[in-house]
Amino acid sequence: MKQIAVFSDSSIDTEYDIVTFKSWEEFSNNKTTIAGFYISASCSDIADELIKEIRSSEFWYYLVYTEDLIQNRLFDGEKSLKDAFKSFKFSQELLSKLKLNIKALKREEKLLLYLYLREDYELIPEFHPKTKKLYKYPILEFISQTSNDSWVYELTAKSLLTFSKIVDRVRLCNQCQSAHLYFIDLCPQCKSINIKESKILHCFSCGYVDEEKQFQKDAGLVCPKCLTQLKLIGVDYDLPASEYKCYDCSYIFKEPYVVARCMDCSAENEPDKLNIEEFHKLKLSLQGQEYLLLDQKNVIFSMFAESLKHIKIDEFKLFLNWMTSVFKRDSTFHFLVVLLEFDNMHKFINYYGFTKTNEIMEELSRRILELLRETDMLSMDDEHRLWILLPTTSKKGIEERLLNILHELKIENGPQLSVKLKTFYTIKNPLKEKSNAKTIMNDLLQSEENK
Ligand SMILES: [Zn+2]
Ligand SMILES: [Zn+2]
Ligand SMILES: [Zn+2]
Repeated sequence: MKQIAVFSDSSIDTEYDIVTFKSWEEFSNNKTTIAGFYISASCSDIADELIKEIRSSEFWYYLVYTEDLIQNRLFDGEKSLKDAFKSFKFSQELLSKLKLNIKALKREEKLLLYLYLREDYELIPEFHPKTKKLYKYPILEFISQTSNDSWVYELTAKSLLTFSKIVDRVRLCNQCQSAHLYFIDLCPQCKSINIKESKILHCFSCGYVDEEKQFQKDAGLVCPKCLTQLKLIGVDYDLPASEYKCYDCSYIFKEPYVVARCMDCSAENEPDKLNIEEFHKLKLSLQGQEYLLLDQKNVIFSMFAESLKHIKIDEFKLFLNWMTSVFKRDSTFHFLVVLLEFDNMHKFINYYGFTKTNEIMEELSRRILELLRETDMLSMDDEHRLWILLPTTSKKGIEERLLNILHELKIENGPQLSVKLKTFYTIKNPLKEKSNAKTIMNDLLQSEENK
């Protein structure tokens, strides 16, 4: 196993293969490959600085244990050097199972990797009252370099992460998604804030409604409008528990109008129309684990074939045999077979990463589909070669357009996706007596690519 980088002020006597550093500078000037980090108690005072450096560096996904307990979820916990050693060993084994180019990972894949290397790890939202939505997930800001965490929920939508427990439900401003809101009571009629809760009296004789103090005279309660003496509650007048009066428009009401004012953008939101965001503890799902472990090339090609509405290769051969028989009987039924061979997919994924490659392949499938007609058929064989059967087609048109599509996929600065285009056309390649799907496809595989 590789060495363990230990941050310590003094040298440590141990049976384990460690290399000690006093500071991050000292570590980064030294080019050893390591299996993990350990922060001894003597370096606890610089631990928070160290972890930020580690999570911002190319070692962002490494396990980091501390000798002392430190309340910071960017660390992987407190452990003895002996136990830390076991965990480092385990994470190295997990890492060796992956066929990933870690440097080319997108933020989504980075998060999956981070969770994959930490068994049973829960990504727990932390309460940070000063942040816009009050919660943030540790590590994400280092992975995505933004403070907006909502991309994480795309991973739950794809079932690559699962919710393990809800932690909180936060209401957000409709305008700017801030959780920094305060609620104010206003007059429902004129929206003034100049309202007051008071005892409101209803005169039964004329229907006048006002604050109790407006009725209080030396002679007792007298209606200021009809001047009736109000003696018996429930008979002459009514005194509900309490109501509000607006001192700007004199409106009297039971429920004030409540708005949620945003402290960040001053927008006034109706409380029941606020956006709601739930914060959950998240875990890596089995699918998420498989996503990392599977050969990504297979995944890319199967998604590509899926998007092309392909048929099975055996069915494709049946159709091609049938077309061949039809043509032998009536040579006006010309057909074209196109073969696309992808040469460097593995290298391509390694360079651009899974997500970007998938985007490029999605674009390719979309453009191929645009080109084809209802009667054309597509299939992918076990070697990930794409076969297209086009009955009664003008070869020149389709071939040129396919070459154009492939040409337009070119990416600036970086390796290109290498795709070989080969065609078999009954006008140019006359069929022999023994020709069938098998011979046509074999001939195509042997033939030169079209340029
Ligand atoms: Zn009012
Ligand atoms: Zn009255
Ligand atoms: Zn706002």
